[in-house]
Amino acid sequence: MQRFEGKSVYNGIAMGPAVVFRRSRQVIKKDIEDPQAELERLRAALEISAGQLTQLYDKAAEQIGQASAAVFEVHRMLLEDEMYLSAVRNVIETEKVNAEYAVALTGDEFSAMFSAMEDEYMNARAADVWDVSSRLVHNLQGDEQAGPQLTQPSVIVAQDLSPSETVQLNKDYVLAFVTQQGSINSHTAILARMMNVPAIVSVPFSEEEIQDGECVIVDGFSGVVTFSPDEAAQAEAEKTIQREREKDAKLEHLKGKENITRDGHKIDILANIGSVADIGQVLENDAGGIGLFRSEFLYLERDTFPTEEEQFEIYKQAVEKMKGKKVVIRTLDIGADKQAEYFRMEKEENPAMGCRAIRFCLTRPEIFKVQIRALLRAAHYGNLSILYPMIISEDEVSKVQSLVEEARAELEAEGTAYRIPEQGIMIETPAAVMISDRLAKMVDFFSIGTNDLIQYTLALDRTNAKLDAFYDAHHEAVLRMIQMVTDHAHAQEKWVGICGELAADEQMMPQFLKMGIDELSVAPAMVLKLRKKVREMCMKDAF
Ligand code: PEP
Ligand code: MG
Repeated sequence: MQRFEGKSVYNGIAMGPAVVFRRSRQVIKKDIEDPQAELERLRAALEISAGQLTQLYDKAAEQIGQASAAVFEVHRMLLEDEMYLSAVRNVIETEKVNAEYAVALTGDEFSAMFSAMEDEYMNARAADVWDVSSRLVHNLQGDEQAGPQLTQPSVIVAQDLSPSETVQLNKDYVLAFVTQQGSINSHTAILARMMNVPAIVSVPFSEEEIQDGECVIVDGFSGVVTFSPDEAAQAEAEKTIQREREKDAKLEHLKGKENITRDGHKIDILANIGSVADIGQVLENDAGGIGLFRSEFLYLERDTFPTEEEQFEIYKQAVEKMKGKKVVIRTLDIGADKQAEYFRMEKEENPAMGCRAIRFCLTRPEIFKVQIRALLRAAHYGNLSILYPMIISEDEVSKVQSLVEEARAELEAEGTAYRIPEQGIMIETPAAVMISDRLAKMVDFFSIGTNDLIQYTLALDRTNAKLDAFYDAHHEAVLRMIQMVTDHAHAQEKWVGICGELAADEQMMPQFLKMGIDELSVAPAMVLKLRKKVREMCMKDAF
């Protein structure tokens, strides 16, 4: 029995046989006489690869949504990247070697270069280059690029998984993911959340020691992976799995019911999402709507800015799928831990306190306006609200309002259908809390982002795992701030919600109700758990 700790990127517990995915790419170096013939083979393989990637994109877009599928667009673009292609051609021509060898060599070099970069986003691109090069090599060799072949429910164990390997898996058979590499923001992590299976990355196991078919327990609650568990550990895991199943089954009957305490106190419970593909889970869990759509994921999962038309289609799809239920779309919250290379943001000493979110948008209005126009247009088709992140001043709100007015005037002049929807701000800085009495007069609602509010109030970097022991989400300062914001919102008859992780803290439910919070927005899988908690409560006895 071997136990390892890693980073859990999705909760849940699973046990099953391991399918160890070992990448094999046997490329034999051959000296060639005719480089032109190799270049022609390369051209043909590029064409085949581009066709495959288009098909993969269509398949992924259908299964997991356009935003997540965009990675295959990125791969297709890599196939057209002049720097990459001329490096491959150069190897063929100068070293007089076969095309597959030139592709493998160039792919490895580019991949190593990306891995060595400090930027986490660029590190993740190493897997993309590797993936695309492997595809080309397989096509040059005339064989299929095979991912793990699953014939029964299995735990996927791999050094790392590329997006195309992940998407080609038979999802009905994936019990969990365990990878040696991969960050919380890697594509595997994003896709695992979409697939709703436990996943643990950064697990320091040695691939050679793991056998196919070996039993594995993946505990996404604790981040612990156990290979070849003994009988006691298996029995324990079996019990937990059973308990989780029973818990889930017991929640089923809560669908369609109100979030109301036994003595009549109500609270709305909505869901947080990162893409339209997550809406299936929102509906499945009977959330009251979408309380936070983190739109930056649309930007993060691609290599170029999404156009107004692309964004409009996505937001419109979201409101249409939610059939009249509220959909709160947060505008681009880029920066700090969410970086995309093509934004070409300057390196900052302290990005969490840097040019992020609304600050970035107000300094790059040409990018922000595209999103605002798309949102106003989509609002015409359903119950959409706009939420602005990281506000610290009335001046910022006024500037946003001017931009919205500009976008409105343009749409009006063009005769394009639009609607000015409800607009609110995130309260996630102590500054916004302290002037929330004034801000409440300018906006329609507040959504409290406790993840950042705790970070900035307690001066604790939320991404620094070493500070976990100091991270006190229930700190009196934070709770008083939530109360202050709620009182100020209500004084202006505006609603207030919480969309940070604290919203899902069952222990806090009595306090939130007492404070007068109108709405909580949580991961879809938490909605019914919180509903259960509310329905079992009696406010009279809670304090
Ligand atoms: C928050 O800060 O609480 C929040 C919901 O926003 P994010 O986690 O995306 O920064
Ligand atoms: Mg935030």
